[in-house]
Amino acid sequence: MSSKGFTTRNLHSDRADHPEHGVLHKPVHPSVAYGYADARELAEVFQGKRKGYAYGRQANPTVTALQKRISDMEDGVGSIAFATGMAAITALALTLLKAGDHMISSAFLFGNTNSFFRTLERLGIEVDFVDATGAAAVEEKVRGNTRLVFVETIANPATQVADLEGIGELCRRRGLLYVVDNTMTSPHLFLPKTAGAGLVVNSLTKYIGGHGNALGGALTDTGSFDWSGYPNILDIYRKGDAGEWGLLQIRKKGLRDMGASLAPEAAHTLATGSESLPLRMDQSCANAMALARLCADHPAVTRAYYPGLPEHPQHERARKLFRAFGALFSIDLKAGSDCFDFLNSLEIVVSSSNLGDTRSLGIPVAHTIYYEMGPERRKSMGVGDSMLRFSIGIEDQADLIADFSQALDKC
Ligand SMILES: *Cc1c(COP(=O)(O)O)cnc(C)c1O
Repeated sequence: MSSKGFTTRNLHSDRADHPEHGVLHKPVHPSVAYGYADARELAEVFQGKRKGYAYGRQANPTVTALQKRISDMEDGVGSIAFATGMAAITALALTLLKAGDHMISSAFLFGNTNSFFRTLERLGIEVDFVDATGAAAVEEKVRGNTRLVFVETIANPATQVADLEGIGELCRRRGLLYVVDNTMTSPHLFLPKTAGAGLVVNSLTKYIGGHGNALGGALTDTGSFDWSGYPNILDIYRKGDAGEWGLLQIRKKGLRDMGASLAPEAAHTLATGSESLPLRMDQSCANAMALARLCADHPAVTRAYYPGLPEHPQHERARKLFRAFGALFSIDLKAGSDCFDFLNSLEIVVSSSNLGDTRSLGIPVAHTIYYEMGPERRKSMGVGDSMLRFSIGIEDQADLIADFSQALDKC
């Protein structure tokens, strides 16, 4: 199957394991524990000498099937699923970093990731936030105790595109772990492995699950990073193939000990949702492109943020790296316009905080997801009071165009 296309591989992935009765979907296995006829086998599973399941917090067959799909989508060597995207990010940071370490993060980040990285500072991990649209700004901050660099592909809400290849090259040269959050692009638009990422983060809640009906997150090891040189791998996990050390430590210390495991029911929902990822993403991106252009050209809008617009500062980079420009865009309304009135005048677009749903959603950024940050930090991140963020769904394009047109004209 590995030579087949993205969707073909995804659709037939569960069958590769010959599930019982020839079922086409990996079943939901709710069992928490697993029984063994020979107690020695149970011990061997615990010791990692035999493949098998022992307790649901660490592994579950339904979740394993989803992990295989994610690894396959990201062209990785292995993946671990978590209860949410944030659980994946916390597990990676708390298992791969320790007090006294330093990391460099893009300043343009998902709000809760930003907030969590501030928590890391309280734990004695130093974090530098830099403008990651250029690799030079990242390189300036590298020091002896720098362990990893964390960036997102397209940042939300102002859609900056990180210098993904430049930072990849820098990390390779300096031996740093390169972590890329691929949530906004999804593996259909971009494979971070091609830019040198060692670990890839996906919030499965967003485009991969795609229907706003289940939470989940995943970390994928692309196989590009040499874990044997990473100083924070504990001695107990420095055994066997060094290519597996990173995920092994994350699974034991991050999943088993911290416990944010993905439920099998959610894994099944996310796996089913993922089957239509390319179809949904193509439609959502085409819709977002048309709407961003419409908004950018309308007098009620002072600025539109979308990498697909030729005037976007990283448009050429986005064109080179991504299959399409994403399904999220933001706008600033002209002075005197009320962002709440604008949202309320949209008939199809739902006022809602999620993104990556099949439905189009809109949110006033400064008043909701960036409220806790305060005005100064919002300003440094380029978030003004009238900014609206839209996550565009798969509705019929003509309906969305008509809806935005009438709302803009009212403005
Ligand atoms: C939503 C999101 C997350 C967090 O994912 P959850 O599943 O909501 O915890 C992380 N990164 C990005 C870029 C996101 O959009």
